[in-house]
Parts: sequence; structure tokens; C-alpha cells
Amino acid sequence: MSRTSIVHRQLCRECINVQTGARLIPRDCRYWHYPAPCSCCGEIRHIVTGVTLTGRWKLFRSRLME
Ligand SMILES: [Zn+2]
Repeated sequence: MSRTSIVHRQLCRECINVQTGARLIPRDCRYWHYPAPCSCCGEIRHIVTGVTLTGRWKLFRSRLME
């Protein structure tokens, strides 16, 4: 899964962590203003719309270790 698709699939942070192994913390991510159903777990969660530089680095590193 590319980093671009992560923020276009309406996933919560937990699901991104499970799918990528990136261990993002809340401040690594930017969120929608309102909670919405996650397209992966179906729970009403804060949906990630983007990641900070630190988050990008974690995603990049996690892909290197796959
Ligand atoms: Zn989820």
C-alpha cells in the first residue's frame, strides 16, 4: 500500500498502524474535523487525512523493513 493510498482510503490511525507497522502516534497524523467510519475496521474514528514529516518517516521506514 502506498503512502498516497493510505490518506485516500479513509482509515483510522490504528488501522494504518496495523497495515503498515508504522506505529504512528496521534501527533504524527492530521485528521478530519469530524469522526467518520473507518473504511477498514468500520468504527467511527478520527480519519487520517495526512501525516507529518515524522509520520512520513515512520511510514517510509516501515516499508523498508517489510
Ligand atoms: Zn480503522
